[in-house]
Amino acid sequence: MSCGLYAARSQLKVVMIEQLIHGGQASTTERIDNYPGFPDGAGGQELMDLFKAHAQKYGMEYRSGRVTGISADGPWRLVHLGNDTILTKTVAISSGSRPNKLNVPGEDVPNLAGDIATRPGVSYCATCDGPFFKDEVLAVVGGGDTALEESDYLTRFATKLHLIHRRDEFRGGPIFQDMVHKNPKIQCVMESVIEEVQGETAAENLVVKNVKTGDITNLPVGGLFVLIGATPNTEYLQGTLDLLPSGHVKTEKGYETSMPGVFACGDCRDAVYKQVVTSAGEGAAVAIDAVKYIAETTILDRTVWPKSSESEGVK
Ligand SMILES: Cc1cc2nc3c(=O)[nH]c(=O)nc-3n(C[C@H](O)[C@H](O)[C@H](O)COP(=O)(O)OP(=O)(O)OC[C@H]3O[C@@H](n4cnc5c(N)ncnc54)[C@H](O)[C@@H]3O)c2cc1C
Repeated sequence: MSCGLYAARSQLKVVMIEQLIHGGQASTTERIDNYPGFPDGAGGQELMDLFKAHAQKYGMEYRSGRVTGISADGPWRLVHLGNDTILTKTVAISSGSRPNKLNVPGEDVPNLAGDIATRPGVSYCATCDGPFFKDEVLAVVGGGDTALEESDYLTRFATKLHLIHRRDEFRGGPIFQDMVHKNPKIQCVMESVIEEVQGETAAENLVVKNVKTGDITNLPVGGLFVLIGATPNTEYLQGTLDLLPSGHVKTEKGYETSMPGVFACGDCRDAVYKQVVTSAGEGAAVAIDAVKYIAETTILDRTVWPKSSESEGVK
């Protein structure tokens, strides 16, 4: 939506296509407390409504739909939506990602009610939700760089943190392992998996199984962070664009993908920062690059863009 806003304000004709509820991941969270300009926080859906209204004010057209693929035809880029195809000069891919879940009973515990309604029952983002968990005993599941680094970060708030990992050693790099081992608040629970998350309105007790001995223990906690990565929504791009082994869209020269004129921004490209502000920033950058791309291919390379009237549905 930030890309749409910037592109529309640059006098491009822009259509945004989005499946499901508008606003993506941000709209699924009760409250966003770290988006600049909102010192009292904002509801996730409320903030996304504002993003959408802002872009639409400058002429961005919004359509509900699922993109099934993109392709190229000379200088044109084609965006396929089942029965419909949109012909365009540039494409910004921002199809985001979905956090990997444990898929155990109780994981979908609802948010806490009452005056601390902003706490998620189970969190998938330490930067987003860590500050909601002051003076609690926390648990983190994971063993990669993110889980180790974020565990250390979470001890700024937690009184104690159990770091649960299914193997006997962490996959994360030695620097992060060292960070964890030197942190007196972190207790490593190795070769263990969570079998069940228990709690009425929050993760209050974890049923943990030692995969080697089969022993089951109960771990009382004040919060659970599942930091086992995210899966980018890029399946529909396989075979069309270069993707990283993680599935994220590969970009070079800033935000351009392996197909000229096709750019990528946000969580479908970025496996590190994964924030509303960083995704919105990348969206704005892509719009600036797209404006430049159109100007350069039109004037410098003298690409002959067919007149829009020659094709149905040209944008
Ligand atoms: C529970 C939760 C809480 C969070 N809390 C915070 C927070 O407090 N602060 C913060 O900064 N960040 C937070 N984040 C992270 C933040 O929401 C994301 O970093 C950000 O939304 C990424 O934006 P995006 O546009 O790249 O992708 P997304 O938000 O994932 O949006 C992608 C959109 O593309 C759509 N889409 C996917 N495939 C297709 C297709 N083929 N065709 C059409 N549409 C498609 C999706 O349905 C979705 O609407 C949170 C994330 C989650 C899951």
